[in-house]
Amino acid sequence: MPEVTVVKNTTTTPITEFRSKVAPDWCPGCGDFGVLSALQKAVSNLGIDNKDLVVVSGIGCSSNLPGFIKSYGMHTLHGRSIAVATGVKLGNPDLNVVITGGDGDGFGIGVGHFIHAMRRNINMTYIVMNNQIYGLTTGQASPTTGRDHKTKSTPLGNIEYPFRPEGVALMGGATFVARGFSGDGTQLTQIYEKAIAHKGFSVVVTMSPCVTYNKLNTYSWFRERVYKLEEENHDTNNFEGAIKKSLEWDNRIPLGIFYQADKPTYEESEAAYRLGPLSKQKLGLSKEDWNTLYESFK
Ligand code: SF4
Repeated sequence: MPEVTVVKNTTTTPITEFRSKVAPDWCPGCGDFGVLSALQKAVSNLGIDNKDLVVVSGIGCSSNLPGFIKSYGMHTLHGRSIAVATGVKLGNPDLNVVITGGDGDGFGIGVGHFIHAMRRNINMTYIVMNNQIYGLTTGQASPTTGRDHKTKSTPLGNIEYPFRPEGVALMGGATFVARGFSGDGTQLTQIYEKAIAHKGFSVVVTMSPCVTYNKLNTYSWFRERVYKLEEENHDTNNFEGAIKKSLEWDNRIPLGIFYQADKPTYEESEAAYRLGPLSKQKLGLSKEDWNTLYESFK
């Protein structure tokens, strides 16, 4: 298994350390409550100090999450969370960087950043709260809305086919790809712990029902269909098997880790980090380095 790469100070950190003074403003019953709770438990169980955690989001209901967890955080622009998080991580790779957002933010507006972050294998975790709708703007079809689904923007039924993020993540080069469900907090916490501890770019697509605007993909709709990959002895090292499982939907929906691989990260491969994190290196050049550089241009 890949080595654990989280920055830890103690065995566990009290979960109260991650409780924000700001109460979530989500609708009662929104799936995002389960995501927040599981994330707080995961970083607590991993013993991460909240000064070493940065949560970065885009725009949308779920992207309000950084305000509800006590850590460093940034609420950025629509679809730009991964770009900003990349800057945070490359500036100081010692930080644990978690990106949170929704399906519209990540797979619509921000999909280009999603693809390129995966192939770079930057050591960050991307939690996408997939409610298959644009919730903040009151219920329009998103990239993951199912075919024929009637929404505010598709009153006769959605004529587009849905984006399948887990398959795209696998083909895009993510070295950890999983699916969770906010209705199963125990499994979700375990998946988040493994994703954050993973060395490389980890993606956890989390089915997080929008109880106000998506009346089709509800908690009960998922509970009738979900099953756990580990209960069927799924091999997380088998890439082709993971692709096959990622295509399952409609009648049976797998939850758990599809795939995990140990590959060098961007930070490990980039020569600029040989002297340590950029944020801890001195600015400028020594006279000796300057002279060497100058000579090389002659
Ligand atoms: Fe959650 Fe939907 Fe309400 Fe947004 S609109 S807070 S996604 S239930």
